[in-house]
Amino acid sequence: MSRIDLHLHTVHSDGSFSVAEVVRRAHRATVTALAITDHDIVSGIPEAIATGAELGIEIIPGVEISSRIGDNELHILGYFLNWQDPTLNQRLGTLRASRHSRNPQIIERLRTLGLDVTYEEVKTLAGTDAVGRPHIARLLMEKHYVESAKEAFDRYLANGRPAYVARELPQPAEAITWIKAAGGVAVLAHPTWATSAGEDLEPLLATLKSTGLGGIEVHYSTHTKRQTTKYLGLAKKLDLLITGGSDFHGITKPDVEVGIGRGGLKVSEKLLEPLRKAATQAYLLTS
Ligand code: AMP
Ligand code: ZN
Ligand code: FE
Ligand code: FE
Repeated sequence: MSRIDLHLHTVHSDGSFSVAEVVRRAHRATVTALAITDHDIVSGIPEAIATGAELGIEIIPGVEISSRIGDNELHILGYFLNWQDPTLNQRLGTLRASRHSRNPQIIERLRTLGLDVTYEEVKTLAGTDAVGRPHIARLLMEKHYVESAKEAFDRYLANGRPAYVARELPQPAEAITWIKAAGGVAVLAHPTWATSAGEDLEPLLATLKSTGLGGIEVHYSTHTKRQTTKYLGLAKKLDLLITGGSDFHGITKPDVEVGIGRGGLKVSEKLLEPLRKAATQAYLLTS
Protein backbone atom coordinates (compact mmCIF):
# COMPACT_ATOMS: atom_id res chain seq x y z
CA MET A 1 0.00 0.00 0.00
CA SER A 2 1.55 3.29 -1.02
CA ARG A 3 1.68 6.40 1.07
CA ILE A 4 0.44 9.95 0.56
CA ASP A 5 1.18 13.26 2.32
CA LEU A 6 -1.57 15.87 2.57
CA HIS A 7 0.14 18.61 4.58
CA LEU A 8 3.30 20.34 3.35
CA HIS A 9 4.77 23.84 3.20
CA THR A 10 7.12 25.38 0.66
CA VAL A 11 8.88 28.71 0.07
CA HIS A 12 5.50 30.07 -1.06
CA SER A 13 4.75 30.39 2.67
CA ASP A 14 7.04 29.54 5.58
CA GLY A 15 8.64 26.33 4.30
CA SER A 16 12.32 26.51 3.44
CA PHE A 17 12.34 24.39 0.26
CA SER A 18 11.07 25.10 -3.25
CA VAL A 19 7.95 23.35 -4.50
CA ALA A 20 10.02 21.27 -6.93
CA GLU A 21 12.35 20.17 -4.11
CA VAL A 22 9.40 19.18 -1.90
CA VAL A 23 7.86 17.14 -4.74
CA ARG A 24 11.26 15.48 -5.41
CA ARG A 25 11.55 14.56 -1.72
CA ALA A 26 8.06 13.09 -1.90
CA HIS A 27 9.16 11.01 -4.87
CA ARG A 28 12.18 9.73 -2.93
CA ALA A 29 9.87 8.83 -0.02
CA THR A 30 7.65 6.85 -2.45
CA VAL A 31 4.72 9.19 -1.87
CA THR A 32 2.15 8.81 -4.67
CA ALA A 33 -0.06 11.82 -3.95
CA LEU A 34 0.77 15.12 -2.36
CA ALA A 35 -1.09 18.23 -1.22
CA ILE A 36 0.88 21.46 -1.00
CA THR A 37 -0.89 23.36 1.80
CA ASP A 38 0.91 26.67 2.15
CA HIS A 39 -0.42 29.14 4.72
CA ASP A 40 -2.95 31.58 3.23
CA ILE A 41 -1.58 31.23 -0.33
CA VAL A 42 -2.01 28.98 -3.39
CA SER A 43 0.75 30.32 -5.65
CA GLY A 44 2.87 27.15 -5.38
CA ILE A 45 0.28 24.87 -6.95
CA PRO A 46 1.14 25.29 -10.68
CA GLU A 47 4.80 24.36 -10.07
CA ALA A 48 3.68 21.40 -7.96
CA ILE A 49 1.42 20.15 -10.75
CA ALA A 50 4.24 20.51 -13.30
CA THR A 51 6.85 18.69 -11.17
CA GLY A 52 4.28 16.11 -10.06
CA ALA A 53 3.49 15.35 -13.71
CA GLU A 54 7.21 14.78 -14.44
CA LEU A 55 7.64 12.41 -11.48
CA GLY A 56 4.27 10.66 -11.64
CA ILE A 57 2.92 12.11 -8.39
CA GLU A 58 -0.67 13.30 -8.14
CA ILE A 59 -0.96 16.86 -6.81
CA ILE A 60 -4.02 17.79 -4.79
CA PRO A 61 -4.58 21.56 -4.73
CA GLY A 62 -4.51 22.62 -1.10
CA VAL A 63 -4.21 25.49 1.35
CA GLU A 64 -3.93 25.94 5.13
CA ILE A 65 -5.97 28.85 6.45
CA SER A 66 -5.28 30.35 9.89
CA SER A 67 -8.37 31.09 11.97
CA ARG A 68 -8.99 32.13 15.55
CA ILE A 69 -11.10 30.73 18.31
CA GLY A 70 -10.93 32.76 21.54
CA ASP A 71 -7.27 33.65 22.05
CA ASN A 72 -6.00 30.68 20.07
CA GLU A 73 -5.42 29.70 16.49
CA LEU A 74 -7.05 26.85 14.66
CA HIS A 75 -5.80 25.90 11.21
CA ILE A 76 -8.21 24.74 8.55
CA LEU A 77 -6.88 22.75 5.61
CA GLY A 78 -8.63 22.98 2.24
CA TYR A 79 -8.35 20.21 -0.37
CA PHE A 80 -9.25 19.84 -4.04
CA LEU A 81 -10.25 23.47 -4.17
CA ASN A 82 -10.42 25.58 -7.27
CA TRP A 83 -7.24 27.44 -6.45
CA GLN A 84 -7.79 29.90 -9.31
CA ASP A 85 -11.13 31.04 -7.87
CA PRO A 86 -10.96 34.89 -7.74
CA THR A 87 -13.01 35.19 -4.54
CA LEU A 88 -10.79 32.66 -2.75
CA ASN A 89 -7.69 34.54 -3.87
CA GLN A 90 -9.13 37.87 -2.78
CA ARG A 91 -9.92 36.39 0.66
CA LEU A 92 -6.45 34.88 1.02
CA GLY A 93 -4.99 38.25 -0.03
CA THR A 94 -6.77 39.90 2.90
CA LEU A 95 -5.31 37.30 5.26
CA ARG A 96 -1.80 37.96 3.95
CA ALA A 97 -2.35 41.69 4.42
CA SER A 98 -3.05 41.02 8.11
CA ARG A 99 0.41 39.38 8.28
CA HIS A 100 1.98 42.59 6.95
CA SER A 101 0.27 44.68 9.61
CA ARG A 102 1.29 42.32 12.44
CA ASN A 103 4.87 41.48 11.47
CA PRO A 104 6.36 45.00 11.78
CA GLN A 105 4.92 45.12 15.32
CA ILE A 106 6.75 41.87 16.13
CA ILE A 107 9.94 43.35 14.71
CA GLU A 108 9.46 46.52 16.79
CA ARG A 109 9.19 44.39 19.93
CA LEU A 110 12.31 42.43 19.03
CA ARG A 111 14.17 45.72 18.46
CA THR A 112 12.98 46.98 21.85
CA LEU A 113 14.44 43.79 23.29
CA GLY A 114 17.77 44.79 21.73
CA LEU A 115 17.79 42.58 18.62
CA ASP A 116 19.06 44.21 15.44
CA VAL A 117 16.43 43.12 12.89
CA THR A 118 14.25 44.91 10.31
CA TYR A 119 11.07 43.89 8.51
CA GLU A 120 12.82 44.56 5.18
CA GLU A 121 15.31 41.80 6.08
CA VAL A 122 12.46 39.43 6.93
CA LYS A 123 10.65 40.16 3.64
CA THR A 124 13.84 39.64 1.64
CA LEU A 125 14.50 36.33 3.38
CA ALA A 126 10.87 35.23 2.90
CA GLY A 127 10.64 36.08 -0.81
CA THR A 128 6.86 35.54 -0.70
CA ASP A 129 3.77 37.53 0.23
CA ALA A 130 2.80 35.00 2.94
CA VAL A 131 5.34 36.15 5.52
CA GLY A 132 5.17 34.27 8.81
CA ARG A 133 6.82 34.00 12.19
CA PRO A 134 9.02 31.11 10.98
CA HIS A 135 10.66 33.60 8.58
CA ILE A 136 11.38 35.87 11.55
CA ALA A 137 12.70 32.80 13.40
CA ARG A 138 15.02 32.05 10.46
CA LEU A 139 16.37 35.60 10.48
CA LEU A 140 17.08 35.26 14.21
CA MET A 141 18.90 32.00 13.44
CA GLU A 142 20.93 33.58 10.64
CA LYS A 143 21.93 36.43 12.96
CA HIS A 144 22.86 33.90 15.68
CA TYR A 145 20.41 35.29 18.22
CA VAL A 146 19.01 31.76 18.53
CA GLU A 147 20.18 28.32 17.46
CA SER A 148 16.85 26.93 16.29
CA ALA A 149 13.37 28.03 15.27
CA LYS A 150 12.09 26.32 18.39
CA GLU A 151 14.31 28.55 20.51
CA ALA A 152 13.06 31.63 18.62
CA PHE A 153 9.44 30.66 19.36
CA ASP A 154 10.13 29.66 22.96
CA ARG A 155 12.03 32.85 23.75
CA TYR A 156 10.26 35.45 21.63
CA LEU A 157 7.57 34.52 19.11
CA ALA A 158 5.11 32.06 20.66
CA ASN A 159 1.80 33.16 22.15
CA GLY A 160 2.60 34.56 25.60
CA ARG A 161 6.23 35.38 24.78
CA PRO A 162 7.50 39.00 24.69
CA ALA A 163 7.44 39.57 20.91
CA TYR A 164 4.07 37.88 20.30
CA VAL A 165 1.52 39.97 18.48
CA ALA A 166 -1.87 38.50 17.53
CA ARG A 167 -3.22 39.11 14.07
CA GLU A 168 -6.63 39.69 12.58
CA LEU A 169 -8.02 36.25 11.70
CA PRO A 170 -11.33 34.81 10.54
CA GLN A 171 -13.46 32.51 12.65
CA PRO A 172 -13.02 28.80 11.82
CA ALA A 173 -16.53 28.77 10.34
CA GLU A 174 -15.56 31.57 7.92
CA ALA A 175 -12.42 29.74 6.78
CA ILE A 176 -14.55 26.62 6.22
CA THR A 177 -17.07 28.63 4.19
CA TRP A 178 -14.29 30.11 2.02
CA ILE A 179 -12.91 26.65 1.24
CA LYS A 180 -16.33 25.24 0.44
CA ALA A 181 -17.20 28.25 -1.72
CA ALA A 182 -14.10 27.40 -3.80
CA GLY A 183 -15.35 23.82 -4.22
CA GLY A 184 -12.99 22.33 -1.64
CA VAL A 185 -13.21 20.08 1.40
CA ALA A 186 -12.37 21.69 4.76
CA VAL A 187 -10.40 19.70 7.34
CA LEU A 188 -9.34 20.59 10.90
CA ALA A 189 -5.52 20.58 10.96
CA HIS A 190 -3.45 19.25 13.90
CA PRO A 191 -6.41 18.88 16.32
CA THR A 192 -4.08 18.98 19.34
CA TRP A 193 -4.07 22.77 18.87
CA ALA A 194 -7.77 22.78 19.79
CA THR A 195 -7.22 20.71 22.92
CA SER A 196 -4.17 22.77 23.95
CA ALA A 197 -6.45 25.81 23.65
CA GLY A 198 -8.76 24.19 26.20
CA GLU A 199 -11.45 23.28 23.68
CA ASP A 200 -13.50 20.14 24.15
CA LEU A 201 -12.80 18.48 20.81
CA GLU A 202 -15.98 16.50 20.23
CA PRO A 203 -18.47 19.38 20.63
CA LEU A 204 -16.10 21.66 18.71
CA LEU A 205 -15.95 19.22 15.80
CA ALA A 206 -19.73 18.80 15.88
CA THR A 207 -20.21 22.58 15.71
CA LEU A 208 -17.65 22.96 12.93
CA LYS A 209 -19.27 20.11 11.03
CA SER A 210 -22.58 21.97 11.15
CA THR A 211 -20.79 24.88 9.42
CA GLY A 212 -19.36 22.62 6.71
CA LEU A 213 -16.23 20.93 8.12
CA GLY A 214 -15.62 17.74 6.17
CA GLY A 215 -12.75 16.06 7.96
CA ILE A 216 -10.11 15.86 10.66
CA GLU A 217 -6.33 15.41 10.37
CA VAL A 218 -6.04 12.11 12.21
CA HIS A 219 -2.49 11.22 11.11
CA TYR A 220 0.17 13.81 11.92
CA SER A 221 3.91 13.86 12.57
CA THR A 222 3.66 14.50 16.31
CA HIS A 223 0.60 12.38 17.14
CA THR A 224 1.04 9.59 19.63
CA LYS A 225 -0.70 6.25 18.97
CA ARG A 226 -3.22 7.22 21.62
CA GLN A 227 -4.02 10.54 19.96
CA THR A 228 -4.37 8.90 16.55
CA THR A 229 -6.77 6.34 17.99
CA LYS A 230 -8.80 9.04 19.71
CA TYR A 231 -9.11 11.17 16.56
CA LEU A 232 -9.96 8.10 14.49
CA GLY A 233 -12.79 7.36 16.92
CA LEU A 234 -14.10 10.93 16.71
CA ALA A 235 -13.95 10.84 12.88
CA LYS A 236 -16.02 7.66 12.84
CA LYS A 237 -18.49 8.89 15.46
CA LEU A 238 -19.06 12.26 13.77
CA ASP A 239 -18.83 10.91 10.21
CA LEU A 240 -15.83 13.06 9.29
CA LEU A 241 -13.26 12.23 6.63
CA ILE A 242 -9.82 11.16 7.80
CA THR A 243 -6.71 12.88 6.45
CA GLY A 244 -3.05 12.98 7.36
CA GLY A 245 0.21 14.67 6.60
CA SER A 246 3.69 15.51 7.79
CA ASP A 247 3.37 19.34 8.04
CA PHE A 248 6.84 19.42 6.50
CA HIS A 249 8.46 22.88 6.72
CA GLY A 250 12.17 22.14 6.14
CA ILE A 251 14.69 23.82 8.42
CA THR A 252 12.26 25.28 10.97
CA LYS A 253 11.07 21.73 11.75
CA PRO A 254 14.30 19.82 11.13
CA ASP A 255 13.00 16.52 12.55
CA VAL A 256 10.05 16.26 10.12
CA GLU A 257 10.57 14.73 6.64
CA VAL A 258 8.20 14.60 3.67
CA GLY A 259 5.95 11.53 3.73
CA ILE A 260 7.27 10.02 6.96
CA GLY A 261 7.12 12.88 9.47
CA ARG A 262 9.34 11.92 12.39
CA GLY A 263 9.75 8.45 10.95
CA GLY A 264 6.58 6.69 11.97
CA LEU A 265 4.02 8.45 9.80
CA LYS A 266 2.22 6.45 7.14
CA VAL A 267 -0.81 8.03 5.52
CA SER A 268 -2.59 5.49 3.36
CA GLU A 269 -3.56 6.25 -0.22
CA LYS A 270 -6.95 4.74 0.68
CA LEU A 271 -7.86 8.06 2.34
CA LEU A 272 -7.70 9.86 -0.98
CA GLU A 273 -10.78 8.58 -2.80
CA PRO A 274 -13.31 9.52 -0.07
CA LEU A 275 -11.75 13.01 0.00
CA ARG A 276 -11.96 13.28 -3.78
CA LYS A 277 -15.57 12.13 -3.74
CA ALA A 278 -16.51 14.73 -1.10
CA ALA A 279 -14.77 17.42 -3.15
CA THR A 280 -16.64 16.40 -6.29
CA GLN A 281 -19.90 16.77 -4.39
CA ALA A 282 -18.81 20.16 -3.01
CA TYR A 283 -17.86 21.26 -6.52
CA LEU A 284 -21.19 20.18 -7.99
CA LEU A 285 -22.97 22.12 -5.24
CA THR A 286 -21.02 25.34 -5.99
CA SER A 287 -21.36 25.23 -9.77
P1 AMP B 1 2.31 32.63 11.68
O1 AMP B 1 1.56 31.97 10.56
O2 AMP B 1 3.17 33.73 11.20
O3 AMP B 1 1.44 33.04 12.83
O4 AMP B 1 3.32 31.51 12.24
C1 AMP B 1 2.77 30.31 12.71
C2 AMP B 1 3.56 29.12 12.20
O5 AMP B 1 4.76 29.04 12.94
C3 AMP B 1 2.88 27.79 12.44
O6 AMP B 1 2.05 27.43 11.38
C4 AMP B 1 4.04 26.83 12.54
O7 AMP B 1 4.43 26.44 11.24
C5 AMP B 1 5.16 27.69 13.10
N1 AMP B 1 5.40 27.45 14.51
C6 AMP B 1 4.56 27.69 15.54
N2 AMP B 1 5.15 27.37 16.72
C7 AMP B 1 6.40 26.91 16.41
C8 AMP B 1 7.50 26.42 17.18
N3 AMP B 1 7.43 26.34 18.51
N4 AMP B 1 8.62 26.04 16.51
C9 AMP B 1 8.69 26.13 15.18
N5 AMP B 1 7.69 26.59 14.39
C10 AMP B 1 6.55 26.96 14.99
ZN1 ZN C 1 3.92 26.97 8.79
FE1 FE D 1 -0.81 24.55 10.89
FE1 FE E 1 0.98 23.44 8.37
